[in-house]
Amino acid sequence: MLFHYSLRTEPEGFINITRTVEESLAKSGVKDGICVVFCPHTTAGITINENADPDVRHDLLLGLSRAFPDRPEFLHAEGNSAAHLKASCVGSSVTVPIEDGRLVLGIWQGIYFCEFDGPRNRNYYVKILNG
Ligand code: ZN
Repeated sequence: MLFHYSLRTEPEGFINITRTVEESLAKSGVKDGICVVFCPHTTAGITINENADPDVRHDLLLGLSRAFPDRPEFLHAEGNSAAHLKASCVGSSVTVPIEDGRLVLGIWQGIYFCEFDGPRNRNYYVKILNG
């Protein structure tokens, strides 16, 4: 089963999408299997990180911006190579096991849509596999 979601993003940020992924799982009725969350964009991504302290999300953005600053040597004419680098760093999907109808996430883990070049209209997919 494949579920499709859309969202409007801010210029940059981590958006907690754990709830919608859990809703997809509930609709699927799958009790044991695998869940894949996928982002079909090149300057956004999907990651799993802390769901409790919002300062962690701030620090992740700060750290990524320090690790991947904009550089005059970049050739890409669109001018958003730093966002492409950040997107490749976090990756475009996560995989979470399903057991007893629930996502096997750690208590402090949430699933995040990561925007690095917004604001934009974005999409992501949730694939639920049985077994
Ligand atoms: Zn680009």
